[in-house]
Amino acid sequence: MRNIIINNKQLLFLVENIKNKRNLSEIASLNRLILLDVDDTLLSPQDIYIYRQLPTDDEEITLTPHEYSKENVTPETRQYYDYRDFEDTDTIKNSIITGKPIVANLEIMDDLLTRGYKLGILTARGMEDTVFEGLKDFLMYKNKAGDLIKIGDRLSRDLVFAINDIDRVKNLAGTTDFEKKAEVIKTLLDTFDQIIFIDDDIKNIKAIKEMKRHLPDEEKNKLYVMSAKEN
Ligand SMILES: [Mg+2]
Repeated sequence: MRNIIINNKQLLFLVENIKNKRNLSEIASLNRLILLDVDDTLLSPQDIYIYRQLPTDDEEITLTPHEYSKENVTPETRQYYDYRDFEDTDTIKNSIITGKPIVANLEIMDDLLTRGYKLGILTARGMEDTVFEGLKDFLMYKNKAGDLIKIGDRLSRDLVFAINDIDRVKNLAGTTDFEKKAEVIKTLLDTFDQIIFIDDDIKNIKAIKEMKRHLPDEEKNKLYVMSAKEN
């Protein structure tokens, strides 16, 4: 399968192309969503770790979320990973509030927000309420005039999906994080006319593209999948 990852320029071309084919009131009435991953997409989280002790590890290994994303975690090996930091509300909130912004991806967000897109979050974290609160504090966006402002009501609680949240996970059939992410996106396609999904993890990108491949054409054409930039 050929893996096409569109870049920002191509993405904007697609958006412009849609613009040319429709009149302005039609565009304004479109319900469009930019859906972003959190860790290593919007921000590099600080002071939060995953701990690994595989049968082959002599001692517990501390991994950053970025290092963890490169691990080959299967349903069989998941038991050797400890996610205790992700159960502590203060650690979670601080990891987001003190996170290092990844400007290249935030610029795409700014651009699409000024074009009238709604903002959604799709993360493999748990504790959805805490993630929402942390992001409310962390996220700023540049308006058309170039002023940096707090995200405020642009981030709405009902568009924040933390797929390993204890309540959220009850309604998901998937076992891996990428399956769960694909499931959420599939559901959102019922509500939105267009979704642009951005994530740094190639496993997620691949899974969403695979899900997209099996969608009916009308749904397929609504979904754009992009790899996050590293900086
Ligand atoms: Mg990520």
